Amino acid sequence: MKTATRNTDTELGRLLNQLTRGDNIDECLTCGICNSRCTWFDGPGGPIPRQIVRMAALGLEDALVESDMLWDCLVCNRCTQECPMGITMDLVVTRARSLAKADDQIPEDIKKGIKTRLELGDVNGLTKEEFVETVEWMSEEFSDEMEDPKALIPHDQAGCKFLYLPNPRELGINLMHLTAMAKLFYAMGETWTLSSHHTDVTNWGYFVGKDDVAKEMARMVVEPAEALGIETLVLSECGHGYHVLKCKVARLLGREPKFNVVSIPELCLSYAQKGILTFDPDVHPYEIAYHDPCNVARKSCGGGGGILQDSTTTKKRMITGRPKADQMRATGLKHLATACLSCHRQLGELSNHFELGMKVDTVAALASEALVL
Ligand code: SF4
Ligand code: SF4
Repeated sequence: MKTATRNTDTELGRLLNQLTRGDNIDECLTCGICNSRCTWFDGPGGPIPRQIVRMAALGLEDALVESDMLWDCLVCNRCTQECPMGITMDLVVTRARSLAKADDQIPEDIKKGIKTRLELGDVNGLTKEEFVETVEWMSEEFSDEMEDPKALIPHDQAGCKFLYLPNPRELGINLMHLTAMAKLFYAMGETWTLSSHHTDVTNWGYFVGKDDVAKEMARMVVEPAEALGIETLVLSECGHGYHVLKCKVARLLGREPKFNVVSIPELCLSYAQKGILTFDPDVHPYEIAYHDPCNVARKSCGGGGGILQDSTTTKKRMITGRPKADQMRATGLKHLATACLSCHRQLGELSNHFELGMKVDTVAALASEALVL
């Protein structure tokens, strides 16, 4: 029988246990509470968080790097919430993914997306010209819909209060989400703009644990935003993008950005509390369940994660998503909201696959539908 001997003199061992918050894997009690918290662990396959931590602690980094578990982890930190030793799974997992020996294991779709994002500023390869053309066409449609020539979707305007950074899906399959945001900004009566220099909130550099890539992706957002002189950056409903630009940006860039960063739910809440945004309760006269995305509340205080971007995982996502589908069914409700477009897609696919008959919307879409203008 092969037995593991404790060996922390490995590259991963040196990257971890630096006594920063949550990387103290030597303190793992092997209690397994983390396993009980991982929604993927409840389904067949998926990561086994205790095993990931034990493999790292025992110096079995080669086996860990080659294990599917490492790449299935959503880095959602649901397991971390209950860990008595505060071991932070996204740190353990992203440090392991950052090892040079893990490069060959990075899913091909993720590798391709990173290259495209670094080259063009958009993970789907949308060029600046295509972005401008799409936004200007949407702006005309929005003016017509609102019957107001001043109702616009502006881009590259300096000195605005808000800069909105969309999820790449909003310039592709989720055009209605961008229109919903335009409606919310219109109702707020504030100046806002998009930027053709960076059209994409995502940060897959963080997902693969490459600090240099995450830093460059953050810099591509921060510097042009500062050049526009905006006051607040509003981030679209994207988990990892939000986490990096809200919580990790100062460490990555070595300085704070010269603007505030807020999520869409935070923005809506603050303008609703001021009485500027008002909503008609009769538009949704029933209870709506809320799915908390991994980053927006939990990690910055999972339904998707970067794994969603790997097209080879669709079948696996449906199999391991069964516990989440059971939770959705158990609400007894027919409408679900979330604040992450990755979760939005995963939960919508689960609803279809398990025939739950549950409509899945984003917070922005629901708020815009119920808006009183
Ligand atoms: S919950 Fe924390 S201490 Fe317990 S096995 Fe998991 S990582 Fe180790
Ligand atoms: S971070 Fe999330 S997906 Fe990864 S092991 Fe923990 S609970 Fe599971």
